[in-house]
Amino acid sequence: RYQSLGYNRVLEIHKEHLSPVVTAYFQKPLLLHQGHMEWLFDAEGNRYLDFFSGIVTVSVGHCHPKVNAVAQKQLGRLWHTSTVFFHPPMHEYAEKLAALLPEPLKVIFLVNSGSEANELAMLMARAHSNNIDIISFRGAYHGSSPYTLGLTNVGAYKMELPGGTGCQPTMCPDVFRGPWGGSHCRDSPVQTIRKCSCAPDCCQAKDQYIEQFKETLSTSVAKSIAGFFAEPIQGVNGVVQYPKGFLKEAFELVRARGGVCIADEVQTGFGRLGSHFWGFQTHDVLPDIVTMAKGIGNGFPMAAVVTTPEIAKSLAKRLQHFNTFGGNPMACAIGSAVLEVIKEENLQENSQEVGTYMLLKFAKLRDEFEIVGDVRGKGLMIGIEMVQDKISRRPLPREEVNQIHEDCKHMGLLVGRGSIFSQTFRIAPSMCITKPEVDFATEVFRSALSQHMERRAK
Ligand code: PMP
Repeated sequence: RYQSLGYNRVLEIHKEHLSPVVTAYFQKPLLLHQGHMEWLFDAEGNRYLDFFSGIVTVSVGHCHPKVNAVAQKQLGRLWHTSTVFFHPPMHEYAEKLAALLPEPLKVIFLVNSGSEANELAMLMARAHSNNIDIISFRGAYHGSSPYTLGLTNVGAYKMELPGGTGCQPTMCPDVFRGPWGGSHCRDSPVQTIRKCSCAPDCCQAKDQYIEQFKETLSTSVAKSIAGFFAEPIQGVNGVVQYPKGFLKEAFELVRARGGVCIADEVQTGFGRLGSHFWGFQTHDVLPDIVTMAKGIGNGFPMAAVVTTPEIAKSLAKRLQHFNTFGGNPMACAIGSAVLEVIKEENLQENSQEVGTYMLLKFAKLRDEFEIVGDVRGKGLMIGIEMVQDKISRRPLPREEVNQIHEDCKHMGLLVGRGSIFSQTFRIAPSMCITKPEVDFATEVFRSALSQHMERRAK
């Protein structure tokens, strides 16, 4: 335990010195003191099952013993060099990461955050294509730096100033919220309750969304494009999945107009989706650039951009790139340990097995409660969307979702939030969680939802 600061003093300092632009969960934000694997402990020693892993970041568990041991060893050896010098952890890491990606994705740029990775990817797309316009989905979150804010299309993060030059939003092919539905259109063990008329092996919803995508491409500003960014499953927007086959067709259309395709794997990468190591593989596409962060360092600041030798060359012809902390020895040693742990502990397989188990359990909650409109996702990236009723699909008001969120916390379960009106619970625990922990989480949700239905009935 830290002895120095009590909760009230922390609140005072927070109010005085930390910016109100950064918001926290809960009426009484948690003051965390310790973490161990999938568990967190607050200042009073209460423990919480962490089902959001520091926003989809602690991939292999808080303070994982192997990762900690590697970090400590590196701490005593060499912390910092800057990119002008070489050191073995960087080269070992680059080789290990490249081996996990399909050819020709093998040139790696190491940076420190997802926003930085996506900024660099934007630059690469423009340098390689000699075009300006970049397309991203409505509801996409690709970063909060001024350049990536052009790609991020979530209202709360935007300022009433022109966005990044040449950034164009396009309709998100959202199977649950979009206009065309699609009861069997998404890649998940659980399908949406929204009916569609097409057979399981065709997808009219996808065709409709592709028509919309073509319309974006044909508008005058985006006739020739630099690139198209997509999260394989949208995270911040509430775990939104696209109809099967959509990304494949969209990638072809983008390339036909001279653009490159960028998969933002900041949330979906490193085995979280279970069936595949990378989210793009679940769409059967090969991107030109892949960006990654969060889970790459299990919470240590680290991020990467991986691309083809050809695109890397296009950037190198145009500018010199320097990054003080990118690829530092600490991050690279930790990144290598994370990759080893994922393999040694079969965490991708665990994501698949425990994630599917959880999705099927949550689907039962959806069938039990009128206010659970949708359960979706893949592996350990799951969304539970709260609605006023299943027919209208109107979002449950934020205050009501807040209350359910608080109730889960009081019962020892931490989950995240997403979607435009914050109506979706997001679940993305460390990949080491177990089925008994899922059973516990399901019962906590069931209890919180029952309490809420009782409140509503009064
Ligand atoms: N891309 C995605 C998909 C993200 O979810 C985020 C962070 N929420 C980012 C990029 C930006 O990452 P960072 O916060 O590390 O800048």
